[in-house]
Amino acid sequence: NFGIGSWLQRRRPKSGTKTAVITGDRELSYVELADRSARLANALRDRGVAKGDRVAYLGENDPSFLETLFAAGLAGAVFVPLNTRLAPPEIQFQLRDSGAVLLVHSAALAELAERGSAGTAVGGRIVVDDSAVPGTTVPGKTGPDGGTVVEAFEAVIASGAALPPDEPVGLEDAAMILYTSGTTGNPKGALLTHGNITWNCVNVLVDFDFASTDVALMISPMFHVASLDMGVLPTLLKGGTVVLEAKFDPRRTLELIERHRATTISGVPTTYQMLCEHPDWDTTDLSSLNKLTCGGSAVPLRVLEAYERRGLRFSNGYGMTETAPGATTLPAARSRDKAGSSGLPHFFTEVRVSDPLDPGAGPAAPGTVGEIQIKGPNVIHQYWNRPGASADSYTADGWFKSGDMGYKDPDGFVFISDRLKDMIISGGENIYPAEVEQAIAELDAVGSVAVIGVPDEKWGEVPRAVVLLREGARLTEEQLRSHLEGRLARYKIPKSVVFVAEMPRTASGKIRKADLRKLTPGHV
Ligand code: ATP
Ligand code: MG
Repeated sequence: NFGIGSWLQRRRPKSGTKTAVITGDRELSYVELADRSARLANALRDRGVAKGDRVAYLGENDPSFLETLFAAGLAGAVFVPLNTRLAPPEIQFQLRDSGAVLLVHSAALAELAERGSAGTAVGGRIVVDDSAVPGTTVPGKTGPDGGTVVEAFEAVIASGAALPPDEPVGLEDAAMILYTSGTTGNPKGALLTHGNITWNCVNVLVDFDFASTDVALMISPMFHVASLDMGVLPTLLKGGTVVLEAKFDPRRTLELIERHRATTISGVPTTYQMLCEHPDWDTTDLSSLNKLTCGGSAVPLRVLEAYERRGLRFSNGYGMTETAPGATTLPAARSRDKAGSSGLPHFFTEVRVSDPLDPGAGPAAPGTVGEIQIKGPNVIHQYWNRPGASADSYTADGWFKSGDMGYKDPDGFVFISDRLKDMIISGGENIYPAEVEQAIAELDAVGSVAVIGVPDEKWGEVPRAVVLLREGARLTEEQLRSHLEGRLARYKIPKSVVFVAEMPRTASGKIRKADLRKLTPGHV
């Protein structure tokens, strides 16, 4: 078995009683984590899970997430992590689409798990809670024999044989189905192989200098590929320690950094901003931190400065579910002189910029915006169950089409402009909403903003801003426009503004722009 499921078994004799995972007061050594995963793998097989079968997980950060992931890998099964913020029909969609046969979930999410698995192939549920009754059959639920078997996680582990199963798993075999955020349509299942995940980890180890001495504090949920593949798995591969937090709380995070002498955290810019704005920030000992990884969007300058005052720098990155997920990263030492860039391609990954209208023309010249295309051993070969999307997503010469627009500077640093689908073409000029949104977000009154294109008889399309004001704040359309005047070209300035009371977002917090196109100007 060369899959990720074997990692703990290989680590077991090397790392022994060293702590692999800490959560609250509970600590699990490498031996314990390896042994529990091996037993769980056998228990999954006893329950009929065969190579290639899908096993889903629904829960906040907890060791059982990792135990299920590694057990699935040992059994040759495909792990399907679900986002806990999804609504029951969305859970149902992902369970049905993936065809998962088993669902491991936290007791706290039992209702969501039950409603979500109705009418799917899920024949058994394993509840992570000591008080659950083992072996209880709940009648009246759908499943292979008309009833879903509900069992307790600890009892299931105890029932499995100790020696890891002897299942051959190679790097080309499927390891996980991870659903994309669904920002531009229905989420698509990215089929990640063991090789995709392994190579992403190698990229991370090389580019961020992970070591066995690392202590990774995981404050964002592991069902997001970014925290699992960029933080947790590289740390465990090297024999470091992972500290799991179920919910992000800035005060507690600062306390845990000090208590565990954390060396690395990962998050989105907002996470980092909340930490440095907390009253305890100045008095917390941050000297242990040496790797701050950040992704999703650019880090605001004032946040960068707050960390620099404490001797800390970020590595900002760009990626997507389909690249497992790292595509580029900005070396921390360049976070100042290349501010706004998403950095250089990861060590074993290549990025090119191509003109989507003239793909045969070769790579775009430095500074010229085109589609970001990616190649490398971390890039998926196909989506799950989506032959059409799979065929549309690669160029004839095998590059993955990210659907994002951007450019490289003369030094090869990548800058992301925006998604191709969100680009507005007004009177023949391209407008990247992200640029306009950043300028509008500078206004204190603005809580969040999205810029979309709306049809226009004269220009084809014109930009419109959709704004959610901060509580109690006031802003008029004229004030917004006069703030942009002189800052942006005239054609980029929104011709109309909609003030909304709520921003429609996906479960991973991204704005659903498609939902905004129906709104009409004024206050909603
Ligand atoms: P879907 O593919 O279902 O529409 P999604 O693309 O939002 O959803 P993810 O894989 O979670 O799903 O997100 C990847 C996308 O996030 C990238 O394609 C890009 O648009 C955006 N992104 C990621 N990192 C950055 C970054 N550093 N700067 C700007 N955009 C980024
Ligand atoms: Mg996408």
